Amino acid sequence: MRIAEVHAYSHGLPVHDGPYRMAHAEVWALRTTLVKLVADNGLVGWGETCPVGPTYAESHAAGAVAAISEMAPGLLGGEVLPVPLHRRMNGLLHGHNYAKAAIDIAAHDLLGKHLGVSVADLLGGALADSVPSYYSTIVGDPDETARLAAEKRDQGYPRLQVKVGGRPVEQDVETIRKVWEVLRGSGVRLAVDGNRSLTTRDALRISRECPDVPLIMEQPCNTVEDIRKIRPQLAHALYLDENGTSLDAAISAAGTGLVDGFGMKITRLGGLHPMRAFRDLCSARNLPHTCDDSWGGDIIAAACTHLGATVDPELLEGVWLAADHIDGHYDPENGIVADNGHIKRPQGAGLGITPDETVFGAPVASF
Ligand SMILES: [Mg+2]
Repeated sequence: MRIAEVHAYSHGLPVHDGPYRMAHAEVWALRTTLVKLVADNGLVGWGETCPVGPTYAESHAAGAVAAISEMAPGLLGGEVLPVPLHRRMNGLLHGHNYAKAAIDIAAHDLLGKHLGVSVADLLGGALADSVPSYYSTIVGDPDETARLAAEKRDQGYPRLQVKVGGRPVEQDVETIRKVWEVLRGSGVRLAVDGNRSLTTRDALRISRECPDVPLIMEQPCNTVEDIRKIRPQLAHALYLDENGTSLDAAISAAGTGLVDGFGMKITRLGGLHPMRAFRDLCSARNLPHTCDDSWGGDIIAAACTHLGATVDPELLEGVWLAADHIDGHYDPENGIVADNGHIKRPQGAGLGITPDETVFGAPVASF
């Protein structure tokens, strides 16, 4: 089976409860990029990539369309199988993993449909029919964040992530302590995500002022050097997120004991094929991790859910969804949602969802 057509779509995703506030950015609306691959046998596969604004990572929506357009002519006639596909993509464009990921996901969807198996099967096989999700609060008022934490606890979420940074650290400490008051004894795990924003001084202060709170600190500072500097002084487990920019970076962080786990994004590594290797690397080192993406609709959510279902449940920190902040679904019948804090794995071949492509309008690029 070979690639006969490549189409890219650009679709607006307003943040209906916006803004989504992180330490370095407020987002009110996002543009997601969809890829439709059509094979020479007529089968269709869908992929998606949606950076959460242009400052979260070295990626942005217009860049995704440009990178896909740069590669697409060279992909026509090529195999859909992941190994030759990635070799071909890497021969056409250096970097731009977030764009390659959309093509990789579409190829997995296509391959699954061709073979009559799910994407989870292609990734080695599901261990569960549903995966745990987690809720992420924005950088917000301490009392309001604690109220939200109680609400999400009661909804059955097994994990909560609290965003911090971009303000006086005293407010972050107050928020963490108030959130812990409502989570203590509930079994809900807590992560505190600085999204690269904290100075080493403030990251250390959070750890020192919350010694009794069993939180994990996710990407507190901007660089691996900063993280290495604070690591021996922290009283808490440390996860890498934004600095896990490649398999190579993840291998270094895992192999040198820099971190205790990862927040990991499918599009940051370049798709499901490299994520499979990342999953197995983490399994070998007994390192917990998430299987998420930074934003996006049902297509990326389905990809994250299938992958998450193949992770050892003891190491899966959860699959985060942007669905709480988005109106509607691409697939009106099988849209991906969290219920009781968990996500059902879509059934059927490939990703198991059928996007209504009229939602996306006309392609912005076709090859
Ligand atoms: Mg994070």
